[in-house]
Amino acid sequence: MAEAVRGGHGSADGPFTERAARVLREELGAAEVLLTTSCTAALELSALLLGIGPGSTVIVPSFTFVSTALAFSRLGARLLFADIDETTLGLDPDHVASLLDDSVRAVVAVHYAGVACDLTGLGEVLAASPEVDLVEDNAHGIFGRYRDRPLGSFGRTSTLSFHATKTFTCGEGGALVLNRADDIERARTMREKGTNRQAFKEGRVDAYTWVDTGSSYGLSDTLAAQLLAQLEARERILDRRERLWRRYAEALAPHADRLAFRLPTVPPDRDPAHAQFHLLLPEPTDREQVVHALAADGIHTAFHYVPLHSSPMGASLAAAESSCPVTDDVSRRLLRLPFSTDQPLDDVDRVVDRLVATLERVSG
Ligand SMILES: *Cc1c(COP(=O)(O)O)cnc(C)c1O
Repeated sequence: MAEAVRGGHGSADGPFTERAARVLREELGAAEVLLTTSCTAALELSALLLGIGPGSTVIVPSFTFVSTALAFSRLGARLLFADIDETTLGLDPDHVASLLDDSVRAVVAVHYAGVACDLTGLGEVLAASPEVDLVEDNAHGIFGRYRDRPLGSFGRTSTLSFHATKTFTCGEGGALVLNRADDIERARTMREKGTNRQAFKEGRVDAYTWVDTGSSYGLSDTLAAQLLAQLEARERILDRRERLWRRYAEALAPHADRLAFRLPTVPPDRDPAHAQFHLLLPEPTDREQVVHALAADGIHTAFHYVPLHSSPMGASLAAAESSCPVTDDVSRRLLRLPFSTDQPLDDVDRVVDRLVATLERVSG
């Protein structure tokens, strides 16, 4: 970062941007990767690129972060909220199939906690509707795989988040992953306030002018330097997170049946990205009580997500009401445990001890 500051190129598209984008391009096998100010910005760019606007409908999971839906709705799209499947907590292809109609232009998939959703099932549903594009909101799934193919390489576009809460971070940042070469020129223009600055820089046009819609979405090169340092350490970071994840799973497994909680499920054809560790508490448990008891021991746990289909804005933007019973159930029961790359392994044991003791007490 000091080198980036001294180099004097603080704005987007400097030398560190190019190096970080190259790592991502090569790892994901993408046509191009454009670093952005956030995953939300990359989702907005996807919506612009797909020509989303009034009259379009976009299918999104109800069980996701707001940005997955917001980026499309702010261009005038109506939303259809799909439920998730119980195994991966990703989109349920059958529910998506039942929501498809002539106005649907895109389906946005999330690989929750870094476990791929049913991409084969979704692919089969979408094969019958070639005018519907798949976008992967891959904020959790960086370097995860589905049947040995990188997450983020299945959609027309996919998006990454480098927010402080994510595995790889530069505080605030993201990326738009382009899997079609014919989207590159337009996406670059839209990321550069609708100007042909890139073509001008490359000497392909002799005037730098306003040619399209867009906004200011480029990540500062100083932040790209922070990101690059992390991407270069990716093997160590991923290995560490896998070890933490396995330690949780192994320590909790002997208690799961007795205390009736459910551990995350990873189908054998998926390599998870280990974005977080969560469990599903048994139905009558008072989750607030568990959170407070653990907080008293200095252990910070959290919920996920307030379903979008029943949020005030989500309900007002829905093209039609949907029923998402799995989402409703999971969002009431899910508990995320402390999980960060720099967490000592024996901290996992302490969290598990306190959690098990609390559940023994709370569930009676
Ligand atoms: C974190 C997150 C986002 C938003 O990422 P930003 O980089 O903060 O815009 C979007 N979608 C999902 C699924 C996320 O987890």
